[in-house]
Amino acid sequence: MNTINDLNIENKKVIIRCDFNVPIKDGKIVDDTRIKESLETIKYCLKKNCKVILLSHLGRIKEEKDLEKNNLSPVAKDLSKLLNKKIIFSEKTKGKELEEKIENMNYGDVLLIQNTRYEDLEGQKESKNNSELGKYWASLGDIFINDAFGTAHRAHASNVGIASHLPSALGFLIEKELKALSTLEKPAHPFIVILGGAKVVDKIGVIKRLVTKADKILIGGGMAFTFLKAKGYEIGKSILDEGSIAFCKEVLKDYSEKIILPVDFAISTEYSNSGIYQEKDIENFAKNEIGLDIGSKTRKLFEKHIEKAAIVMWNGPLGVYEFDKYRKNTDEILKYLVKNKIKTILGGGDIVAAATTAGYKEKIYHASTGGGATLEYLEGKKLPGIEVIRRK
Ligand code: AMP
Repeated sequence: MNTINDLNIENKKVIIRCDFNVPIKDGKIVDDTRIKESLETIKYCLKKNCKVILLSHLGRIKEEKDLEKNNLSPVAKDLSKLLNKKIIFSEKTKGKELEEKIENMNYGDVLLIQNTRYEDLEGQKESKNNSELGKYWASLGDIFINDAFGTAHRAHASNVGIASHLPSALGFLIEKELKALSTLEKPAHPFIVILGGAKVVDKIGVIKRLVTKADKILIGGGMAFTFLKAKGYEIGKSILDEGSIAFCKEVLKDYSEKIILPVDFAISTEYSNSGIYQEKDIENFAKNEIGLDIGSKTRKLFEKHIEKAAIVMWNGPLGVYEFDKYRKNTDEILKYLVKNKIKTILGGGDIVAAATTAGYKEKIYHASTGGGATLEYLEGKKLPGIEVIRRK
């Protein structure tokens, strides 16, 4: 694996592909965790007296009106505060103005280029890895560092494209991600997987791969209802992923002792935070009820399985954590893992967001920054943004 330490980057023009895809509301960054996580690589390049050129996407650009809300300039301001340094911002993603800005940089300066997906407006050049665009961006520097784990599962011009034309390496953030996630390839046992989130269909690949490696898979969240329906339970108006029932039946048949399903739920008759908090055993579900969180019996059951785990991998919240009332058991299990110092990897956006707001993220062994990328890695797929560099 080519990591940043393997290259001589001293006094070079270094292009770093970061993941600055942060939530922005009314021009203000709501959560700058991703920017903070990119600092180690940026600071290292500054210490090596590089001209640092940063690229990132932000949101999706399909039409003109997407441009302003996905303008990357608030990131320049945030980064400037975090680095205590002026950040040169280029409104242009290519052309003479950008080239002159780079030409005029001093070594030790940082320049951020406008959202790479501005190039998607005509012909999706960034997202379809247009070869001319990748080659052009590569021509702006001497070395390429990919540190955007969140997009490593996609072949875009700003990762695979550039890496195809320059000496390249992985940054510290990706290196850290791979180190943590690779412990799951030959995991220590008991290896316990916790899966939650909305639908089974998004997690089929992960279930197929992890069911052979894990000692137990604890299933909560909306996903659990499709498994329970497959077992013949009444699930009321809870979320159901009809198309995955057959898959659930198969998994339950082949791995009945490995799959642990909820025995009770926090229920409501409406999909909102305003109902009265009430828990019910799965056998007592009424037709008009919706399960919005696992119940406390299930929490205790899950904790019993987690208690002796050598490692836990957790993807997806166990309830509708966006509603305060129904994030309770996700928070409680996070607390249990932290309190008992159980080695835990959180994979994917929602569970990491839940851990962040509950204040547990920093106390967890590893919180993976990539949503789709983490899932694809766990499914055993090759990530093109990393493979292109690994092959070099
Ligand atoms: P995912 O992206 O698949 O991990 O799904 C995360 C989403 O699952 C969150 O937005 C949660 O609100 C949702 N979720 C978790 N539990 C439930 C549930 N019991 N019913 C409906 N949605 C749920």
